[in-house]
Amino acid sequence: MGLCPGQDTRRLTVSYHPCPKCKKPVEFFSDEMRIRCPHCKTMVHKEQAPSCIQWCKAARDCLGPEMYDRLIGAMKEDQEE
Ligand SMILES: [Zn+2]
Repeated sequence: MGLCPGQDTRRLTVSYHPCPKCKKPVEFFSDEMRIRCPHCKTMVHKEQAPSCIQWCKAARDCLGPEMYDRLIGAMKEDQEE
């Protein structure tokens, strides 16, 4: 109904990912990779950086130190924005 086909959002799927900071679910559309948490304004990544790495003691061994440092570093950068 007068909508540009490019703006047809019916094909988008929605998924929820917990915010690493406030733990509230953040709504992601299928074309979004990261979004700012509406509750605490923290950047939430859809696939990158599972939130468990922030509290799990085994995360460094699980991911390997290189990946761990990269993900933690990316999180810090986002929070300083
Ligand atoms: Zn949040």
